[in-house]
Amino acid sequence: MTEPAKLDGEQVDRYSRHVILDEVGPEGQGKLLNTRVLCIGAGGLGSPIIQYLAAAGVGTLGIVDDDEVERSNLQRQVIHGDDDIGRKKVDSAEEFVNQLNPDVTVEKHDTRVNAGNIEELIADYDFVVDGTDNFATRYLVNDACTLAGKPFSHGAIFKFEGQVTTFTDPDGPCYRCMFPEAPPEGMVPNCSAAGVIGVLPGIIGVIQATEVVKHVLGKGRSLDGRMLFYDSLDMSFDEVEIRKDPDCPVCSDDPEIESVHDVEYSQSCSIPTGDDEEAIAGEADD
Ligand SMILES: [Zn+2]
Repeated sequence: MTEPAKLDGEQVDRYSRHVILDEVGPEGQGKLLNTRVLCIGAGGLGSPIIQYLAAAGVGTLGIVDDDEVERSNLQRQVIHGDDDIGRKKVDSAEEFVNQLNPDVTVEKHDTRVNAGNIEELIADYDFVVDGTDNFATRYLVNDACTLAGKPFSHGAIFKFEGQVTTFTDPDGPCYRCMFPEAPPEGMVPNCSAAGVIGVLPGIIGVIQATEVVKHVLGKGRSLDGRMLFYDSLDMSFDEVEIRKDPDCPVCSDDPEIESVHDVEYSQSCSIPTGDDEEAIAGEADD
């Protein structure tokens, strides 16, 4: 468990709306200040995750991203601004956080997660939030965090719909229990190929941030074992139980995957090309 930090006068003021909550109090706020969260991705989902965790006073935010800010990001990636176009997202994100809350230390990781670096990247953090929304990283984060017993959050967005869940129970299911394998290459388009309504990652990312805060405080009921689905056009939420698969390739008693080095993580959510594009367009017309 995270040892709580002692709040100074400015912090009692800054976090006063937290401190007066029975479920948080000075001790809960002190725990948040001593918590280290790794945000993988500083894009659509990463923006609200970083924004709200920083405002809430999560003391250390590791940010992993090797992209630069592009104009087409700004419709949804709200921690970056027009003046940031062409800058590294980790630099833009760090400046945003520093301006918002000087209590928060940003640790920049100007890289892309892969099987070679993920174990080292996640090792020093209490919680990992996947805000990348691509299949290769999704399975890599699941496998690395499950094998390391590291709590993590999953979020995904597509056009007008999102899904989100949390994995904090070492005896609970993992993402592969529900979806054992990534779909074949090119079958699923990503945001740049399919489009996404700009407000959508705000909803899903803030749910991910909420789950982090609850986990640190040890309060409430998490999304463990439940996949929450959100449909913005219908403005409805549904949930599906995630059952532990006794034959899961990573979290069963006799797993096929004992290390992230055992798996080829394909970039199956890259922009589809050629024949795939027609297949996707056909699907989209339905
Ligand atoms: Zn599993």
